[in-house]
Parts: sequence; C-alpha cells; structure tokens
Amino acid sequence: TDVKELLLSRIRDVADYPQPGVMFKDITPLLADPAAFTALTDALAELAVRNGATKIVGLEARGFILGAPAAVRAGVGFIPVRKAGKLPGATLSQAYDLEYGSAEIEVHAEDLAAGDRVMVIDDVLATGGTAEASLQLIRRAGAEVAGVAVLMELSFLPGRQRLEAVLGGAPLEAL
Ligand code: 5GP
Repeated sequence: TDVKELLLSRIRDVADYPQPGVMFKDITPLLADPAAFTALTDALAELAVRNGATKIVGLEARGFILGAPAAVRAGVGFIPVRKAGKLPGATLSQAYDLEYGSAEIEVHAEDLAAGDRVMVIDDVLATGGTAEASLQLIRRAGAEVAGVAVLMELSFLPGRQRLEAVLGGAPLEAL
C-alpha cells in the first residue's frame, strides 16, 4: 500500500551498527518526516482501537516515541515499560535472555490491572525477546494482551514464531 511504501522509504539501513555484521534499521528519518510519522501514528492507533485496547504499553526507548502519540490518538492511556532501575515506584520486573547475557524490564505495578486490554508497541521486532518479556509483565499484572504492533519485523529472525507461541491468538501486527 501507499502507507507501507512511505514508511519503508523513510527507514535507513546502517551497516555494522551497533556491531560489525549487523544491519541496523534507523527510524530517525521517518520521525523527521511529519507525513510519515503521522501516517505511522494513525496506523498504530487504528490497530489499538480495532483490537479493543484500553492501554498502550511502549517499550523503551523507541516504543515510547511511537506508542505515546498513538495512545493520544487512540484515546487510551500510555504505560512505559522501562529497563531495570528507571521507574521510581513499585515495579514488576521480568528478566529475559539476550544472545550474550540477559536483560530486565520493568513496569509500574499500579499502571496495569485486571480489566485492562493492552497493546504493546515497539519499532522493531528482532528475536522477540523484549516483546515476550513485556507480555509476561502484562499478564503478571493481571491484565490481558490485546496484541503487539511494530513498525517492522526482521523476518529473517524467528521473532514472529516466538511471539505467536505466547500470544494466545492475539495478533502480531507489523506495518
Ligand atoms: P528483540 O528483543 O526482538 O531481539 O529486539 C527488539 C528490540 O531491539 C526493540 O526494542 C528494538 O527497538 C531493538 N532493535 C533491534 N534491532 C533493531 C534495529 O535494527 N533497529 C532498531 N531501530 N531497533 C532495533
């Protein structure tokens, strides 16, 4: 579609970042283009509304940039899921494995409750580890997962299979 082509045209491939052999998908040209950023925001908000979301969770850090305007547009609350140690209040934490080592993400426990339906938003789905950990946080808080929406999935990695195995029928939408 036209939107898909517009979005794709504003993503820059950066070779050997953050390490040799990695082709990094840089979304800053898209953010700098108001037509593309608006189209992306509208598409993400539409996915949240269509899936009955009552909250949007954004994954640090680029999920904040995309998720916050989508939440405003959709008329739902925005909840940041942050790397460990950044949130001041009582948190739920979830550890997950990286290729080398592990990482931990957190959410304010009081931001999610039973009855919430949560759409997770991020820029890029790679291995799916970050998104999977966020689903565990949402469910441990007693809330329901409405789906995961990303700007792009790296389809040469098994992120989609990994997430679909834990989404319980909720959609994984890659624009
Ligand atoms: P995963 O947990 O799926 O392996 O990695 C996804 C996380 O890493 C996302 O939060 C995403 O922002 C970041 N990420 C991984 N690869 C890229 C990339 O090529 N471009 C951008 N912008 N983010 C990436």
